[in-house]
Amino acid sequence: MVDDTDPFLSLDPQGADWDRLRATGHHMLDMMFDNLREIREQPVWQPLPDDIRTGFRHTPVPEHGMDAEAFGETFKQMVLPYSVGNRHPGFMGWVHGGGTPVGMLAEMLAAGLNANLGGRDHAPVEVERMVIRWASSLMGFPETASGLFVTGSSMANFIAVIVASRAAKDGLSLRQNGVGQRSLVGYAACSAHGCISRAFDLAGLGSDALRLVPVDDAFRMDTTALKAMIAADRQAGFEPFLVVGTAGTVDVGAIDPLDVISGIATKEELWFHVDGAFGAMAALSPHFKKALSGLERADSLAFDFHKWAQVPYDAGCVIVRDATKHAAAFAQTLSYLSREDRGLAAGAPWFCDLGPDLSRGFRALKVWATLSVYGTQRLGRMVDHCCAVARHLEARVDAEPMLELMAPVTLDIVCFRLRDCTLTDEQLDHLNGEIVKDVQIAGLAVPSTTRINGRLVIRAAIVNHRTMAADVDRMVDAVLAFAARRGLTAPG
Ligand SMILES: *Cc1c(COP(=O)(O)O)cnc(C)c1O
Repeated sequence: MVDDTDPFLSLDPQGADWDRLRATGHHMLDMMFDNLREIREQPVWQPLPDDIRTGFRHTPVPEHGMDAEAFGETFKQMVLPYSVGNRHPGFMGWVHGGGTPVGMLAEMLAAGLNANLGGRDHAPVEVERMVIRWASSLMGFPETASGLFVTGSSMANFIAVIVASRAAKDGLSLRQNGVGQRSLVGYAACSAHGCISRAFDLAGLGSDALRLVPVDDAFRMDTTALKAMIAADRQAGFEPFLVVGTAGTVDVGAIDPLDVISGIATKEELWFHVDGAFGAMAALSPHFKKALSGLERADSLAFDFHKWAQVPYDAGCVIVRDATKHAAAFAQTLSYLSREDRGLAAGAPWFCDLGPDLSRGFRALKVWATLSVYGTQRLGRMVDHCCAVARHLEARVDAEPMLELMAPVTLDIVCFRLRDCTLTDEQLDHLNGEIVKDVQIAGLAVPSTTRINGRLVIRAAIVNHRTMAADVDRMVDAVLAFAARRGLTAPG
């Protein structure tokens, strides 16, 4: 006999417990609003204390539950103060978005709805289609383009490499037969993100099949070299199928000459893919959109809403111009075109036919919310402001005798380095790296490092809508203060 009377069978509260949980929920929401509102008052980042780390590492699986309020308190003590720091205006490390309170609310709505967007016929699927259509039109793609929300640009680039290889001559046979004896090769600038090479690896093409094209002085793909490399590969019996341009390289924010690459791709009959992880969002700004010229001619585009568009993690997106080619690369049966004609199983094609995931969350909701509440004009102004803050930092670096600019500033990334003529390059590499750690641990600012032409440099990526000129000044002041403490002296 089944006993339905035990109140603990369902995981929902019972009776008046609903009101208690509701109060806890309001309290949690207030905690996060307070935390966001006062984010400036906190250290940018602080190391996780040993006792808390030990707690995580030794707490056993709970056999008996605790109440949600107590859990909220645990979160507040153990997690809230010790997160990445990317919401803070002093965070300029790597290329991280800052998130917004509206995005936070949308995440809650999506979790409340608990929709699975693998397929079927319901409003959340239409929301994702709408946002993909918006994204296509923002990027200059036709509204008929296909697309998909994924975790991030790493996955979006991987999907694009798969679609491109399936769109190559006899490419669809790769789906059944694997790569076999074929020698498909693709091209990207040596400044391309590591996930492109990983995509070749994961796709079974092998990372060596991604040819790395040299860059010019401005860190943009050298397209003369690209042409020569394609010709040499054809001569040697390889099958070039893809060229990847980057709109906003992760190291310095350079934009490859997308127009020229697009011309070469057309002439050579290669798939033209753009990795616009953060840089594609420059399309929101009337001032920077021209810099992306050529992007609108790409066959596919990968980009993130969680970086410059400030949508909370994670929210990557891939767009494919030719919807048929996109589906042909992933759909497992032709039935994807002829699902049920009515009822919940209607509404083909489904998102599960466009990528590797079957079950998928409602990422599109937080993007819809962000675009709806802020609008593209305001987001475009935010993009402009980030670039202006980067210019301010560039000017500050130029004006400081201790600092040296290490790459031209195209968008929102500034790479610089402390100098001292008494030290070797290796000593300076070490010192710049140590000073970045000093500044991070002090909680004053979070720049990160990267390597340019073999040298370790300090990188500040202004991707957070909260970062103002005063914040980058504070970061520079902190770098200089720690440099002085370590005995670096201005050139005489
Ligand atoms: C961040 C970034 C990626 C990877 O994107 P994720 O969303 O972190 O997976 C790829 N390419 C470029 C240029 C990036 O800046």
